[in-house]
Amino acid sequence: MVPTPQYAGERVVVMGLGKSGLSAAASLRAGGAKVEVWDDKAASLNEAMAKGFAAFDGASMNLDGARAIIWSPGVPHSFPKAHALSVKAHAAHVPLVCDVDLLLEAQPEAAVVAITGTNGKSTTTALTAHLFQNAGRKVAVGGNLGIPALDLEPLGKGGTYVLELSSYQLELVPHLACDAAVLLNITPDHLDRHGGMDGYIAAKRRIFANQRAPRTAIIGIDDEHSAALYEALIGDGLHRVVPISVKRAVAHGVYVVDGVLVDATEGQPSPILDLRQVPRLPGAHNWQNAAAATAAALSQGIPASLIASGLKTFPGLKHRQELVSVVNNVSFVNDSKATNADATEKALLCYQNIYWIAGGQSKEGGITSLAPLFSRVRHAFLIGEAAEEFAGALKDKVSFARYTDMESAIESAGKIALAEKLPGATVLLSPACASWDMFKSFEHRGDVFRSTVLKLWPHGSAALTPDAQRARS
Ligand code: ADP
Repeated sequence: MVPTPQYAGERVVVMGLGKSGLSAAASLRAGGAKVEVWDDKAASLNEAMAKGFAAFDGASMNLDGARAIIWSPGVPHSFPKAHALSVKAHAAHVPLVCDVDLLLEAQPEAAVVAITGTNGKSTTTALTAHLFQNAGRKVAVGGNLGIPALDLEPLGKGGTYVLELSSYQLELVPHLACDAAVLLNITPDHLDRHGGMDGYIAAKRRIFANQRAPRTAIIGIDDEHSAALYEALIGDGLHRVVPISVKRAVAHGVYVVDGVLVDATEGQPSPILDLRQVPRLPGAHNWQNAAAATAAALSQGIPASLIASGLKTFPGLKHRQELVSVVNNVSFVNDSKATNADATEKALLCYQNIYWIAGGQSKEGGITSLAPLFSRVRHAFLIGEAAEEFAGALKDKVSFARYTDMESAIESAGKIALAEKLPGATVLLSPACASWDMFKSFEHRGDVFRSTVLKLWPHGSAALTPDAQRARS
């Protein structure tokens, strides 16, 4: 835990008592602050009080003498509806900050590399941390991914915090001044929480706040919103800006052309690695993540040779095109994190001869947008509430069957794939649906996929065969 001495002896309110709120309360207490806690849910408040924290008076909302409200990023404060406590705080000039901000204040000597974007945050954060570790750097990784900021270890000088930051967190970090800040991409998301697209973009842009050269702004320029932001940053003239593209070569950027990762940050383009050789980072979307992580590592002085070796040994994240096993040239891939058609599209683009396990709780639009990729699907195995709807979308285009549970879908998919022996055959769980009709979470769904595959085919290998690798690239 990182204690936060900056509020010693002062009154501080912690609002929202989930994982990060409780960790902030504990850290503030360890730093000597007078902590009061609050949550709109009585059960959460009672749980915190049982841990010995005093309750904030939520009826009067008296904020006299309060230095700050540590606001849990998951709790809406301004949109879609202003929260009464945030209105009160605003009127009383009490700042709203989140746990990440406390960490930044408490650890001013450590370097900070932060990552945001609509998609790819977790992968890029884990990969960046891996590149730093591979280069022998002392790092702690967390934030929106995994460990709450204040549960990380104190690093001090010479250490680097690699933080995934959501748009919600970015609204609550006035002390942010990243040594390297990464914005991967922007597509419409969470618009209700930010009062529309402009508010969402403004929140994402905050990752570059307080940066001055040589601090580095790293930004994907392959979508229109991020490209506009890139131009704005160049116009500001404050940052060292490194553009990222997987569509074209970009001067002074890091980019991927025909699968080859190139560093042109110093002017002269220099190839680092052929990413088609990296099975744990399949697809152009992962190449964007790899290029951004590379730019972050380069900006902090990590040499290209160590970046190349780190990219090759990245173990990948669970549930995101996680290669579970290869059995007689059939790959079994767990992409349970794909809870909507956009995410599933990324996976379908990576393989041919797909035995596709899909379904669950359907999202708006279903899978109709994926029709151009149906030719890659050899057979579909439909589960969950969406099975009927998906069957309608696939009718006359892809052969399919419905299953009442995922285990039988996996068994059929595996048996058919093993019998057909097609090149690059892939049994892919990429549901394009939420998991809650059959599972506790997408993690639970992915864990069931993994354990079922390993139980049914215990003799698979964890590495891609050269044949499967060729079929993918
Ligand atoms: P996040 O943390 O932003 O949700 P993840 O790294 O967990 O992102 O990836 C979630 C899913 O988003 C992946 O399974 C993949 O389908 C998609 N994805 C990953 N990286 C990118 C990217 N750079 N661009 C677009 N989609 C991506």
